[in-house]
Amino acid sequence: MNVGVSASSRSTHTTPSDDPADTAGSDLLSSTAEASTYTEFYSPIPQGYRKGYHKYVIVLGTVMSGLGKGIFASSVAKMLKDKGLVVAPIKMEGYLNIDSGTLNPYRHGEVFVLDDGTECDMDLGTYERMLDQNLTVRNFTTSGRIFSEVLERERKGRYLGRDVQWIPHVTGEVKRKLRELAAYGDGENPADVVIVEVGGTVGDYENSFYIEALRELAFEEGPSSCCFVALTYVIEPKTLGEQKSKAAQLGIKRLMEAGIQPHLLACRASRPVNETVMQKIAMFSNVPLRRVFSMHDRESIYTIPEEMRQEGLDREVLSLLNLHDRVDVAHEDRCREKWTGFVRQLTAPRKRTITLGLTGKYAALRDAYASIDKALEHCSAHLSTKIDIRWIDTTDVTESNVAARLKADGGVDAVIVPGGFGKRGIEGKIACARFCRENGVPYLGICLGFQVAVIEFARNVCGLAGASSTEFGPTPFPVISELPEQKQIEGLGGTMRLGAQDVVIQPGTLAHFLFREGHVRERFRHRYEVDPAFIAKLEAGGLVFSGKHPTQPIMQVLELPQVAADGKPSHPYFIGGQFHPELTSRPLRPQPMFMGLIAAAVLNKFGEAAMQDPAVAKWLRSPSTQRQPA
Ligand code: GLN
Repeated sequence: MNVGVSASSRSTHTTPSDDPADTAGSDLLSSTAEASTYTEFYSPIPQGYRKGYHKYVIVLGTVMSGLGKGIFASSVAKMLKDKGLVVAPIKMEGYLNIDSGTLNPYRHGEVFVLDDGTECDMDLGTYERMLDQNLTVRNFTTSGRIFSEVLERERKGRYLGRDVQWIPHVTGEVKRKLRELAAYGDGENPADVVIVEVGGTVGDYENSFYIEALRELAFEEGPSSCCFVALTYVIEPKTLGEQKSKAAQLGIKRLMEAGIQPHLLACRASRPVNETVMQKIAMFSNVPLRRVFSMHDRESIYTIPEEMRQEGLDREVLSLLNLHDRVDVAHEDRCREKWTGFVRQLTAPRKRTITLGLTGKYAALRDAYASIDKALEHCSAHLSTKIDIRWIDTTDVTESNVAARLKADGGVDAVIVPGGFGKRGIEGKIACARFCRENGVPYLGICLGFQVAVIEFARNVCGLAGASSTEFGPTPFPVISELPEQKQIEGLGGTMRLGAQDVVIQPGTLAHFLFREGHVRERFRHRYEVDPAFIAKLEAGGLVFSGKHPTQPIMQVLELPQVAADGKPSHPYFIGGQFHPELTSRPLRPQPMFMGLIAAAVLNKFGEAAMQDPAVAKWLRSPSTQRQPA
């Protein structure tokens, strides 16, 4: 935990002056009670903070939310990171939940989980993928978290007799969080640039204190420290057939009323924003035209960093923040080469198409499965295979209609049963897993989908009729159950097992072939797991647990052997993870279990011809190298 520093150690980072920003650095945590009586400022400076060194790019939305602030902010972050700068993004949510753990994905998109177990907004996934950087709890906050911290400090008497106010205390805590992140950086080096994304829209009640805190921060940090970006929306009403700038103008005006002059504008629109509209918006917002960026719809968001660069936005940001001296050009060249290679694959025509069945409770809403969608996008680019997703609502799938459902319209070439909670549609998912197992359809079970595969195998191969998970009600054979003793051993607390865990991969297995190593780390978010009492029985039936916890009897990867004991092919690709492999898939490092699935789907649809494409063949284990795990 970061604590305030004394006046003397602080002075090594800042020069004492009349500047209120410096006085503002008095941390009431460590200063005297007297201080609280003579200063109106509350702006704690955490240990290791170097004023003037850390810079901020602050992205605020106007007109409406949902325009892609996260995409713009992560693109700026990527553009700067490629230049060799240390970047640290933070998403500041307006809602009062402490984190995203309790949010309904149907309303708010998927819950993204970080290595350290933080349950956060799916935008953090965008940052991780764009930056190929693991984030932590420091990179995410909500109003709820800020307030709970303020109240906790208040109870501990840390405000030294002061009446605790929105300004300076709540805004002070916001600034503290940002400065702590700046000092922490990427965990190895302090941040050159903190990228701040404020959720919602300027004018919302919810985020107004963040905006005020950012205004204060810019004042305290001084010139060349903050670059404010207003993301706005250029409307093109169908009836008019032309782009209109008024809403954008009014939105930006609202920001200026809050005391913030934007330095850069990003105009969201369906088509490229025309020059006249850009000029109007520039003129009404005191922003030079060269700093107005058209953020129109594109084939892929991954092209944005390069397009920004080509339009000179990188130079503008570097100049505004006085960062030209810190740029590493050779690093940038290397990164760009790799990235453009990926973007080329992503935007090139595909060699083939496969159909993937995705069983989903939130079948209508892609946002609820955003990371799976992204992981598939990575595979699609690397394997030059278009993936048509077919959503399968399993609430009406049964043993008797599953074949018809999965074979309809040319059939599915592979199936994913993703994570989920509760028993709705569960029997349909079990029926899908059975169909895949019995018919050689490539299968990837994710978290709940892993558990579904275990239940199906227990019932239909091991003869444990009625086997199920205790999550779905009483069952004679609780092959999946909640094991409180185990949680205690692990000392995880809470009820959910969250975040990254080690997985030991058994040699000779499909999992080992895919990961190409015997030890991986994957991210978990679950409450139930395979009951150790049934492991021997399941293994005797032929199920292979190819990934386990290093010391506990926790089953983390399962698979069916690809070659049966008699040497005949058994199943081409049937695998499941108790974790969420989609959370760690990155554009330049696609997740192996997904790559294997899509390669197997290609093999399933196109037969041996698939082996002729080396990109695909790399993920297919040739029968000669397959052997039974020891
Ligand atoms: N509901 C299951 C559990 O809690 C699976 C969770 C998930 O799929 N994320 O263990």
